[in-house]
This record gives sequence, structure tokens and C-alpha cells, in this order.
Amino acid sequence: MSRVTISEVAPRDGLQSIGPFVATQTKIALVNALHAAGVRRMEVGSFVSPKAVPQMADTGEVLQAALRLPGLESTVLVPNRRGFEMARQAGAHRVGLFMSVTESHNKANVNRTCAESFADLAGIVRDAVAAGMKVRFNLSCCFHCPFEGVVPERAALDWVERAIALDPWMEVAICDTTGNAAPDQVARVVGHAVRAWTAPDGSSRIAFHGHDTYGMGVANVAAAWNAGCTVIDSAAGGLGGCPFAPGATGNVATEDVAWLFRRMGVATGLDWSKLLAAADLAAAVPGSLPGGRMRAVPAARRAA
Ligand code: ZN
Repeated sequence: MSRVTISEVAPRDGLQSIGPFVATQTKIALVNALHAAGVRRMEVGSFVSPKAVPQMADTGEVLQAALRLPGLESTVLVPNRRGFEMARQAGAHRVGLFMSVTESHNKANVNRTCAESFADLAGIVRDAVAAGMKVRFNLSCCFHCPFEGVVPERAALDWVERAIALDPWMEVAICDTTGNAAPDQVARVVGHAVRAWTAPDGSSRIAFHGHDTYGMGVANVAAAWNAGCTVIDSAAGGLGGCPFAPGATGNVATEDVAWLFRRMGVATGLDWSKLLAAADLAAAVPGSLPGGRMRAVPAARRAA
């Protein structure tokens, strides 16, 4: 049986844009429930300025709780060197870096050019690897940019190639930040990357991160999987919608992705009923904007 790795992002991507502060104990309860459901990889928070993203101010505490869970690889997303130093000192297993492949989105998001971001991140990759940490390099807006529209595939792949060249083992995520990728586009871009760039032992280095804004989240995950991608990001309860962006929905839901793989005979290592319990918990977080389909399908709920 083939096997996919689900990297859960609800505690970070799912929660970070929620307005009211989510209690630390609620965040930890969600992390625990996801771990109990079999999640073994999770983005648990972000070491970012609490002024910029108040919701992530307690990432240190959430991370310490996550580090106590057996077998769980904890990732912390960081925007810069300061965040990286915090992640290293706190003992995160993996540091998540990010930049956009389009100039206007990178400017809007981190107020830098792509070249400036890349130069900084390259230095952090070097130091993180030297410190024995795993690295995830996230490339945002690989398919569609809110300012520039559909991204030329060659332009996205140029950035994937540059990121890949930073370290022979580092994982690179091709991200559909707006949820406006099309499955054929995902198949071509992800497929090219999977075929072109592998680790020294031949294993894949490519991950896919998708949102469900246009209802194509699961189709895009299927396209990425069929193109050879074996690491998929998703968020329990489909969290990740931004209350300030009307119509914007969240990450593709972990329970929808789990159902997809279950129906395709691909192992996820997830316990279906415990995953639904975790997804219900995620969807019940005050102020959240949940998505996903499977929580609302009675027959699927009974199919424990
Ligand atoms: Zn995202």
C-alpha cells in the first residue's frame, strides 16, 4: 500500500487570521487531538512579531506542549532570522521558511523583493541545516497571485529550482496560497518538480500546500499526488479562512484529504473517527471560519 504524509497546519495557517485570541489551552487541546488522530507532522505555530500576528504570540507554549507528544515532528514557521533563532532555541524539529514567487505578493506580505527574501532565507537555510534542524522552504503563490493573476509555470519552477539548489535534502513546498490553482496546472508544475529534483537517495523533496477557496482543494491534492507528490499540507476543519477577506476559505480540510486517500487506497496513518473529533474541535474554535465537506456527510461520519 502506498503512503502519503499529511502535514497538519491548522494550529498555524488555520488559526493565525482569527480575530479573537484563541486561548493557549484550546490550541494545545487541538494539537493533542490531532496527535491522537495519528498526525505525525504538524506546523504548530509561528515565531513572528506578536504585534504583526497577535494570534501566534503563544507559539512558544504550544510548541513545548507539542514537543512532549511522542513521534510528532513539530514545525514552526518563521519570517526571518530572529524567528529562526527562537525556533532553534525552543527545540523545534523543523523550521518553515516562506517567500512568494511573485514580486507584488512578496512586497505586500513581507515588504521585500523576491531577491532580498531569497538571499536572507538562503543564509537561514545554511545555519538551520548546520544546527541539525530540518527545513521546509515554502514558495507562496506558485499558481495564482492576488495581484498578478495566473503565474507563468516557468516562473514558478525557476524559484523551485533555486530553492532546491540551497540544500540537497531540504523539502520545498509548492503553495497554492489563494486556492485558485487548477488541477492540470498543479499536475504540470508539481510533476515537473518531482521528476526534476530528488534527494541524493532518490526520495521526493516536493510538498504541496493548497487552499479550498474555489472548491478545488481536494482536486488539486489529488493532482499533486498523481504527479508524484507524497507530502500534503491540510488543516483540520478546513480552517484558515480570513474573516476580513469575504469569500476567502481556508486550507483544504484534513478530513477531506484523508477521505480522498482512504477512497484511493492510500495509507495516511490517520484514525478516521478521531480525526473527525479533532476536526470538530477545530471547527468549534471561537471566531474560526471552518470549511471542508466531510464533517457534514452523515454516511462518512458513520464510516469509522
Ligand atoms: Zn496557506
